[in-house]
Amino acid sequence: MKISADAYPITVEIPYVLSDVSNLSNPNSLIISGGTILQINWEAGVEKPVHLISTEKLQPLKGITETDINGQRYLKIGAAMTIADCLNNQLVQRNASILTEACEKIAAPAVRNRGTIGGNICSKIGDTISVLLVLQAQLSFFNGKHEYIIPLREWLVKPHPPSSELLTNIFIPIHVTNISTYSFFRKIGRRESFTAAIISVAGYLEFQDTIIKTARLSIGGGAHLPCRLTETEKELINGGETTDWKHLNKVIQADFSSYTDPFVTEEYRKQVAANLFIATIKDFLNRQRKE
Ligand SMILES: Cc1cc2nc3c(=O)[nH]c(=O)nc-3n(C[C@H](O)[C@H](O)[C@H](O)COP(=O)(O)OP(=O)(O)OC[C@H]3O[C@@H](n4cnc5c(N)ncnc54)[C@H](O)[C@@H]3O)c2cc1C
Repeated sequence: MKISADAYPITVEIPYVLSDVSNLSNPNSLIISGGTILQINWEAGVEKPVHLISTEKLQPLKGITETDINGQRYLKIGAAMTIADCLNNQLVQRNASILTEACEKIAAPAVRNRGTIGGNICSKIGDTISVLLVLQAQLSFFNGKHEYIIPLREWLVKPHPPSSELLTNIFIPIHVTNISTYSFFRKIGRRESFTAAIISVAGYLEFQDTIIKTARLSIGGGAHLPCRLTETEKELINGGETTDWKHLNKVIQADFSSYTDPFVTEEYRKQVAANLFIATIKDFLNRQRKE
């Protein structure tokens, strides 16, 4: 179904099923979900597209369920679910509590009610991405012909024209384990609330006694392309109480690229990130020792 918007010389298609999605290969068209980022871009002078593909009524992009794929259980989140839907969902709270934490720290309720998790991911700068990286999320995309699944980590560094593929669902593996685990999300902004992040960090650790056996750490926020900190992760394995924190601080700072903007220098961002990771992990180890 196609309608014309009177206010702008833009056509909008509002498909209900994937087979009705056309124009993905059209360079003048753009996918729109909540529109909260696109609206900011347009207000800042970014050129509007000629054609919009709305995800609002696309049923395959709705719902939050558990599902099995090749014997692995996943939490499946439709890309058109809003940040508020994710925040309030019990399956998300139970199986991916750090995603709940991240959603809670995104914008104010009005934006959370409109903005979607799909738009957050496809912006490549959303706060959910660093969390989804440590949760080893996979993404399914519709390319106009069929759907395929790709790890979020691979997709982030894959070059592709904007809106050439439609994000349909997010799959988060569910692991039932007796191992002691700790996961965290921390976001630092220039003000206490409702503000874009200077930096955000996420982590997932598995322990044997007090020794770290698995470490997945990621960084995002601001204009950073979120990424895993692979050298830092290696440095933490078999550490914990014995970790040389001064050395780790240097490893973290060397493990990602940052930038300077009119408000914050690159050095400051790197130092804040290193402090944040180290303080969070040390705090957990201290609490564990006292138990
Ligand atoms: C006041 C304010 C505060 C904000 N604070 C935060 C914050 O704290 N943290 C944060 O992370 N974000 C923040 N945002 C940004 C934004 O609201 C969220 O990232 C939101 O989740 C984006 O989702 P959306 O559906 O509105 O995206 P849209 O604006 O609809 O789309 C964003 C991008 O993704 C593409 N896209 C959307 N859906 C799909 C899809 N299914 N498949 C392929 N491409 C798609 C679009 O083409 C576009 O390029 C804020 C925005 C505002 C206005």
